[in-house]
Amino acid sequence: MILRILGSVSPYPKADNNCVGYFIYDTNNNQKILLDCGNGITRLMKFPSDLENLTIIISHLHKDHYADLSAIAYASYVYHNLGLLNSKVKVYIPNSKDLEDYHYLTNYGTENYMDFYEYDEKTELNINGINVSFCQTQHNIKTFAMNVIKENVKISYSADTGFDENISTFFQNADILICESSFLKHQKNGNINHLSAEEAGILAKKSNTRKLILSHFWPEIDKSNYLNEAESVFENVEVAIENKEYIL
Ligand SMILES: [Zn+2]
Ligand SMILES: [Zn+2]
Repeated sequence: MILRILGSVSPYPKADNNCVGYFIYDTNNNQKILLDCGNGITRLMKFPSDLENLTIIISHLHKDHYADLSAIAYASYVYHNLGLLNSKVKVYIPNSKDLEDYHYLTNYGTENYMDFYEYDEKTELNINGINVSFCQTQHNIKTFAMNVIKENVKISYSADTGFDENISTFFQNADILICESSFLKHQKNGNINHLSAEEAGILAKKSNTRKLILSHFWPEIDKSNYLNEAESVFENVEVAIENKEYIL
């Protein structure tokens, strides 16, 4: 599997940085999974090939995690009409009927050549041999962390979350943990919905993860600040950089 970083910042894209999105490509069966779909990530996707056999999983319905779905829906529609796309894009979103965003998205309509499905904590997806499971995080709307597992490779993704030691059990022994790192610790100021870089490092250590990739940065702050803070508690850490690939 190849993991490609498509985005690394929130709440808005800036220069070479997009809002969050992580593209997983299983080269053996031409299967693609996109974890979150933030503003600007389509700039780094290869169309139409990345749309074929594509499953998108949205962690929660904050716009920095789904805004580019509209671009993918339109692209999917056009490439289908041109006869260059054979499969519909599948999109999994949390069961969140209480949110306006849920109704906005699911009313996109079939002309967009995109199908929506719901998931919750009990859902276990098997996407052509790739297993995806979910764990609800501590955030201000319903949000899910994810494990993507194929054979003995495990990629974990925190989505947006406050500090909760229990979630480290879910991430246990991940080969890669992509973890949000919204704050530097001096900025956190009691916020319970996001992590500092240091806390991301603590979770990586507790979960015995092999490599930590920090992401979800403030666009105006140099990424090296987050890296330095996490490195004080966890050794094998990198910052998410757009277009960087990891082969697993
Ligand atoms: Zn959020
Ligand atoms: Zn976010």
